[in-house]
Amino acid sequence: MLDQYINLLKSGEVVAFPTETVYGLGADAKNPDAIKKVFEIKGRPSDNPLIVHIADKKQVEDFASEITDDAQKLMDAFWPGPLTLIFKKKPEVLDIITAGLDTVALRWPKHPLSQQLIALAGPVVAPSANSSGKPSPTKAEHVKEDFGDDFPVVDAGETEIGLESTVLDITSEPYTIYRPGAVSADDISSIIDKEVIQESNSSTDETAKSPGTKYSHYSPEAKVQWISGGDATFVEEALYLLHSRPAPRKNSRVIHYDGNFNKMAHELYDRFRHADHQHLEYVFIEPFSDEQLQKPIVQALQNRISKAIG
Ligand code: AMP
Ligand code: MG
Repeated sequence: MLDQYINLLKSGEVVAFPTETVYGLGADAKNPDAIKKVFEIKGRPSDNPLIVHIADKKQVEDFASEITDDAQKLMDAFWPGPLTLIFKKKPEVLDIITAGLDTVALRWPKHPLSQQLIALAGPVVAPSANSSGKPSPTKAEHVKEDFGDDFPVVDAGETEIGLESTVLDITSEPYTIYRPGAVSADDISSIIDKEVIQESNSSTDETAKSPGTKYSHYSPEAKVQWISGGDATFVEEALYLLHSRPAPRKNSRVIHYDGNFNKMAHELYDRFRHADHQHLEYVFIEPFSDEQLQKPIVQALQNRISKAIG
């Protein structure tokens, strides 16, 4: 089933495939012409570096100039899985991947199809398979929405987590999370027994250490806003995403997650896209409490929703 996609990748074409986080837009990590196509198809700014996806810890040696003890412990604890690690790069890693930085981001995804594809086609760069600025794709249909019906996508239904990987810089201490995801600072600290800090969401300037974080992301056309105050007035042309407060009424525009934040993460981008199909003007989202924000998945939700608000 994967043969045609493997052949496409090997011949320098671009293929979308599922990971456990979101769908990725894959291209051969050793082929600069193929990687150029990824930037063109997405409309991605060239200063936003790509994550190289591998299918074996050994492949790290092809890209990273140094594998520290902490790096080894983190790979052993979290790979395959939703944690991207930033290493010092080998000189031969293509500049187009790293946007000229002296570091490279690596991840071994867990989805079995991504593992098979990468094992047979070799390491691939794989940003999220959406047009730049759109919500990341969590279904094959989302990819086709952005890139056309004939675009090659390995279709495996909905992705499990629904939000992108945690991005952790381990090239200097204190280790820094540039993008929160399903693996949290506490999860990471517990393995290496070191403090891990979270880069603030406000790095919108030119000096952002992780260039991707300065761009507006994940946004539907509809305006996304936190619900403020106790009693929001419910309007027709809006989607409401609630998780804890009682729903004033049940209808298809009021979605209640009953504290199931994993489900909320799993569905968030699909809800955003659906709101646009319905030409809704607003998506209103119930803010999270400090206690809820202790959960890694809620931190990731908060980060993506804040970026969608812009
Ligand atoms: P995407 O693949 O679209 O989900 O985005 C990849 C994210 O990883 C972006 O936020 C990039 O800025 C970040 N990233 C990739 N490579 C590096 C690197 N070498 N240093 C810092 N951040 C990186
Ligand atoms: Mg992306």
